[in-house]
Amino acid sequence: MILLCSAAAGLQAADRSPNIVILFADDLGYGDLSSYGHPLIRTPNLDALGAAGQRWTDFYMAASVCSPSRGALLTGRLPNRTGLYGRRIGVFFPDAQTGMPQEERTLAEALGEVGYRSAIIGKWHLGDAPEYLPTRHGFHYWYGIPYSNDMDWADGRNFDELIAMRLAGQGEELEKVYEARQALYADPRIEYWNVPIWRSVRTETGYNNTLVERPARQTELTRRYTEEAIGFIERNRTRPFFLYVPYSMPHTPLFRSEAFAGRSPGGRYGDVIEEIDWSVGAIVRRLQSLGLADDTLVLFTSDNGPWLTMNEHSGSAGPLRHGKGTTFEGGMRVPAVFSWPGRLKPGVVSDIGSALDVFVTALALAGADPTGVTDGFDLSATLLEGAPSPRTEMPYYRQGELRAYRQGEYKLHLITEGAYGQPPERTEHEPPLLYRLSDDPGENVEVSAQNPEVVAGILSAIERHRANLTERPPLFDARLTP
Ligand code: MG
Repeated sequence: MILLCSAAAGLQAADRSPNIVILFADDLGYGDLSSYGHPLIRTPNLDALGAAGQRWTDFYMAASVCSPSRGALLTGRLPNRTGLYGRRIGVFFPDAQTGMPQEERTLAEALGEVGYRSAIIGKWHLGDAPEYLPTRHGFHYWYGIPYSNDMDWADGRNFDELIAMRLAGQGEELEKVYEARQALYADPRIEYWNVPIWRSVRTETGYNNTLVERPARQTELTRRYTEEAIGFIERNRTRPFFLYVPYSMPHTPLFRSEAFAGRSPGGRYGDVIEEIDWSVGAIVRRLQSLGLADDTLVLFTSDNGPWLTMNEHSGSAGPLRHGKGTTFEGGMRVPAVFSWPGRLKPGVVSDIGSALDVFVTALALAGADPTGVTDGFDLSATLLEGAPSPRTEMPYYRQGELRAYRQGEYKLHLITEGAYGQPPERTEHEPPLLYRLSDDPGENVEVSAQNPEVVAGILSAIERHRANLTERPPLFDARLTP
């Protein structure tokens, strides 16, 4: 009987809108998968997915830290447009008074308009106040944590206290708190944090929230997300669904289940990535066994580059410069693997793509209403036919400021700055710095003097970009106003 139901669902599925599955790692670097060149970490499932589908070499997030990157993925709009950024505070922290603005139309809402069921299994990080949780933004189901796995420290110092210390000029005391915490990341234990796991279900009349566990048993997170994701797929096999799985890993503190501990030649970080790879494989195999694989577009990518100051607990940006927090390539360019068996034109795509394009592309594939201002391009012809990507430019924002701009193979830096205390110090460049990414992805060789016409061309592109951008004030900084 079960087999018959499954076959019937498979037949119906042939004519329906595709399921959309986004598997979204946290702080996974450009160089962290075998297929992107890592010498030790083994990622056979992701490598196979990319080999049969499309593996993109030049795919960008709209920000190099969590909250603004996630806001842009779910709306197709730049952080400056949605207000999901801060000039002084980079991301949302626990007990935020704000969150994703209600007027933003998320991918879950847009797909819901054409009958999709939507779930988020994992980290939200777009506001933890009740009115801002995912089930208020179009998702029918959420299982996961409201912010990063290292927020909500159990050391008795909450974020407001730390802000108060900073505002009161107690820099030295603040440094001591950060130093003590840095040491705990190196040998993390579950009890160092007090992060909750929530389950939230949208009902006819409102929402039903349950606190599943606090503190989260972080060793179990990747495995449980996988089980929850598979459960959602099984429950919704007969209708189109949108499944968004923002893994909590490999954001530090690094945790993995018993089965993966000590297994990777790539150390603890490798264990964590290999468990994510296992998770991707388990989800894809379940889609296959339910007969849904041919009706499902899967995207695996990461919210930003590696958090390099975490040393051996950090990933690698491979050949790219710097990492998380910066507008160098290592901060914003990430692996991106697309799969849709029988539909995608397989291959390696070296055109430019962005998380900003996912919203528009998914709407096009689902036949949903594309009305509304976004910063995205419809990549479906590139995915389905191998056509050139409609995106030829990419802005690089950090904390509300346009720091760099890519046009074709060239990238112009207006401002460069390291992150988390790493060099280089903030420098405004006049004239700006130019790099040719096609033969210098590491941004080592400055070529503005040889290419004045390229510099002028990118400066005009920046003017056009700015003229088209209506900005909102930075929501994250609201925290600094009592
Ligand atoms: Mg992140």
